[in-house]
This record gives sequence, structure tokens and C-alpha cells, in this order.
Amino acid sequence: MIRRQNGGLLAFCPGHNDRKSRSLAANIGREGQILLKCFAGCNVHEITSAMGLSVSDLFPDTSKDKYDPQSRAFFQEWQILEALAFDAAIVLIAAHRLNEGDKLPEADLKYLAEAVIRISEAISYVRRSHAR
Ligand SMILES: [Zn+2]
Repeated sequence: MIRRQNGGLLAFCPGHNDRKSRSLAANIGREGQILLKCFAGCNVHEITSAMGLSVSDLFPDTSKDKYDPQSRAFFQEWQILEALAFDAAIVLIAAHRLNEGDKLPEADLKYLAEAVIRISEAISYVRRSHAR
């Protein structure tokens, strides 16, 4: 079972016995790779091997498409907002977890710290695109 959530997906994690909480967040990264994050703490190897995949399957075959710096550098503002909405959903998931009295694992704190950096990069990106 998969549920769409603000541009990303929340799913039951195949890496552990995940019946209640949809611990697995999935999204598409900047380079077209599939991003997976289990909030119960499964690492990416555990998740992909439970699906019969390897971690390299999450990355696009870059030998097929040629590098195009112009198309890569270009993001629509709605795409940036979509990514930020996904990060906000992650924060909400973390907040629920804290509300239940659980401690956040170190990896989740790291993810949230990266989200802050990503959001500030998005601000600079939008600022630059308006300065042109
Ligand atoms: Zn898991």
C-alpha cells in the first residue's frame, strides 16, 4: 500500500515488519535517483534487498542520457515548493514520533538538518532566478 504525500510517497517499509505506520518515505532526487528513508531505522541496503533490488537500481542509468547542464540547472518554482512540502511532511512524521514519546534516531536528525540546508538552497535558487 502506497499513499501519495505532497510529491513524495509514504509506504509500508518492506525492510521490517511495518503494519501500522507507513515508515517508508520515497521521493525522486535531483539527479533522478530514488530516495528511500525508513523512519523505523532500516538502512537503504535492507530496504532494497527486501524488494529484490540493489542500491544501484535506485540510480538512473546515466550512460543513457547525455549530461545537459541547462536542463539540469532549471527548476520550476512549483517543483521546489513540492520538494519543500515533502520535507515538511517528514518534519510532521518526526513530530508525531516525538509526540509518541519516541526519541528520533541520529539519522533522522541528520535528514532534518539536511532539509534545512535544502530549503535555504531553494531560497537562494529562487532569488537568483529572479535576479536574472
Ligand atoms: Zn523499515
